[in-house]
Amino acid sequence: MNLIIFGPPGSGKGTYASRLESKLGIKRIATGDIFRDEIKKNTELGKKVVKFYNRGELVPDYITIEVLRKALEEIVKKNFILDGFPRTVEQAKALEKIVKIDAIINILAHEEILIEKTQARRICSNTKCDGNYNLADIRKTIDNIEYILPPILPKKPGICDKCGSELYQRADDEDLELIKRRLRVYEEQSKPVIFFYKGKVRFIDIYMNRPPEQIVERILQELKNIGLLP
Ligand code: ADP
Ligand code: ZN
Repeated sequence: MNLIIFGPPGSGKGTYASRLESKLGIKRIATGDIFRDEIKKNTELGKKVVKFYNRGELVPDYITIEVLRKALEEIVKKNFILDGFPRTVEQAKALEKIVKIDAIINILAHEEILIEKTQARRICSNTKCDGNYNLADIRKTIDNIEYILPPILPKKPGICDKCGSELYQRADDEDLELIKRRLRVYEEQSKPVIFFYKGKVRFIDIYMNRPPEQIVERILQELKNIGLLP
């Protein structure tokens, strides 16, 4: 099964995709993780993308598409979930020529929730680990959507439960202006991807208004409803 998980920054895409990866036995490919890793290792690719990354802007399509193409080649183009790709219509068009997508999981949330969640995010410093936590405790209703999002805390403060490495806050999550810029980039450049796929690929629209376990259960139920899971 080939899936895309799509949604604004702070919508928890990475968390759900990691859980779906183990539950469905499919491979998660996250372009944001690949870029962070390359930047950390200061590779040629890392040097090329760091300025875009640090400004909260998208990495140019020609670079991102090649990165994705290489990542897909490594897994024989089957049974994956793309997390953070495609983020532009150009990327979606390129993807169409490489593989067939079975469904898009489209995560929805109000902007004030996304900002709170992004500011409170803490991730594992071990690049081989996908440990991901959140300090925010959100309980509010906006436009009739009731959000109940308790914090996702590690057992020991600042330490990853999965691997014992230290947790840290991404530099692009620390800066409120940068968070807002990424939300604008999402609205302007990424949202059109939804219209590109409408009518072509099956959509699963999900509000992220409950803890990850429940969101993942809803996603699995929807995958059953559209016949992708028994
Ligand atoms: P978030 O969803 O919280 O913004 P990501 O880890 O998915 O975080 O992305 C972080 C950054 O990596 C983006 O702000 C952008 O600079 C870069 N990036 C990731 N995926 C893409 C993509 N598909 N196209 C262009 N830039 C990307
Ligand atoms: Zn870890």
